Amino acid sequence: MSAKIRLYVEHPLGAGQSVPLDRGQAHYLFGVMRMTVGGQVKLFNGTDGEWLADVAQAGKRAGVLTCVEQTKPLQMPPDLWLLFAPIKKARTDFIVEKAAEMGAARILPVQTDFTNSERIRQDRLQAHAIEAAEQCGGTYVPQVDDLQKLSRLLDDWPEGRQLMFCDEAEVGNALQLIAQGGASRPRAEAERPPMGADGRCPAYRPGKETQPGSWAILIGPEGGFSEAERKRLHALPYSHVVSLGPRILRADTAAVAAMTLWQQTLGDW
Ligand code: SAM
Repeated sequence: MSAKIRLYVEHPLGAGQSVPLDRGQAHYLFGVMRMTVGGQVKLFNGTDGEWLADVAQAGKRAGVLTCVEQTKPLQMPPDLWLLFAPIKKARTDFIVEKAAEMGAARILPVQTDFTNSERIRQDRLQAHAIEAAEQCGGTYVPQVDDLQKLSRLLDDWPEGRQLMFCDEAEVGNALQLIAQGGASRPRAEAERPPMGADGRCPAYRPGKETQPGSWAILIGPEGGFSEAERKRLHALPYSHVVSLGPRILRADTAAVAAMTLWQQTLGDW
């Protein structure tokens, strides 16, 4: 029977490698899932791909697995960061979980002028990203950063990284991302494809043979962006102001919608 359980471990993986389990993992495998010696699980650690492993020792508080063979190589996501202003706890958890599933390379909670929360539990959010990777079959786990001020992040913005700025003030405008030899910019009115007979904008898929380069998506808090933030974000040379359609979305919905658009247009979908 093929191994169904996938487990993230902080240990090197390779043929014949022994992997010790911590107390929580041992409890889960042997207490909750009732696995015994000889059972098999799949392991990944974010760098060595996915490995099939045998249970070599099983105890209540500890255990050891032995790697048998690699079942997947490491699959890196595109270099996409998700910047979002934390909202209520469950909704913030949702954003982190979905970002990990949808292929964010790094998740950066940011404090904006109207951000509701002043602190986050980084360790808890990182655990959500790990759980999401375990269940979605990913071999990579995005790093979740600690909360930082958006203004400071923009002060030190890495050269060459493009920003997809989701601005609720653009609601109803049909801006789209357009690829230009790896770079991208919002589409001007005159360049947009004509609307179809059904009134919808035809799907636009730029050639994906070029690498998208480094990108970040920015989603604001429940209160939206302040005018000062909006002015700064519009003026940045690497910023691409984007509308997410004719309705204002909640921040958690907006994060999923923006990642879908980006992945479909420039990413690995
Ligand atoms: N309170 C704000 C308002 O009424 O204008 C709405 C903020 S919205 C709940 C949270 C974030 O989702 C926004 O800051 C933006 O980043 C994103 N967002 C939601 N709907 C959007 C849309 N239609 N276009 C672009 N961004 C949107």
